Amino acid sequence: MRVQLLPSTFDAQGVATLEQRLTCFVIDDCVAVDAGSIAIATNSEQRSNIRDIIVTHPHMDHVASLPIYIDDLYPSLKEPVRIHATEEVIGLLERDVFNWNVYPRFSDLKNDYGPVMEYIPIPIGEPFRVAHLNVIAVPVNHIVPTVGLVVSDGQTSVAFSSDTAETEEFWKMINEMKGLDALLIEASFPDRLAKLAHVSRHFTPASLGQELKKLTHNGMDIMAVHLKPSYRDEIIQQLNALNIPDLKVMEPGRIYEW
Ligand SMILES: [Zn+2]
Ligand SMILES: [Zn+2]
Repeated sequence: MRVQLLPSTFDAQGVATLEQRLTCFVIDDCVAVDAGSIAIATNSEQRSNIRDIIVTHPHMDHVASLPIYIDDLYPSLKEPVRIHATEEVIGLLERDVFNWNVYPRFSDLKNDYGPVMEYIPIPIGEPFRVAHLNVIAVPVNHIVPTVGLVVSDGQTSVAFSSDTAETEEFWKMINEMKGLDALLIEASFPDRLAKLAHVSRHFTPASLGQELKKLTHNGMDIMAVHLKPSYRDEIIQQLNALNIPDLKVMEPGRIYEW
């Protein structure tokens, strides 16, 4: 399985930097998990292939350019862009984003070929299919309804924590799985901002280190993501100081294969 954390920040020459402001993972160039930078950092192959997008929660850094992505593709879409999300998240996207004020309600609109956007409600704790992938979603501990995911292609499984603080069901799901190749987990704030991390329901390196003790099997790559750019160097130092052998920081733009 090929997984890329799309870049979301570019320097004055247009070259992608390592700072992650938005969240969008692309799997096998055709499925996206969240859509923060989907309209600004996908290549043309990805733009012509990605029609399935799993939205973990409606925070702006995870959906910022989703409306623009559908807008860009509007005349050429021969099938709708399918948004896979819980009923709660679909309701929030309809109320707060695709509400005719912030942006058009694309789920009501058609081009010459048919509907341009479709919502597919996802179950909690039950497997469902997205393109060639099997997915399971469970709630995690964030300030809006949010799911963490395990995505499998039959051979490889990768877990996405999304945004979360201390949580239980996600670890239970992972610990019950036979094999897991990679765990992509958030580390948003440095340890000195533990209070802010707590109220906004995110991890610091210290709380992430505690949380990883809930893993009952190891050997998978653990990739830290969602490092707030203002504190990136500090967070990386503190993650390294945890001395967890398989823990690395995921680089935006790079293609990882598991
Ligand atoms: Zn969030
Ligand atoms: Zn976020």
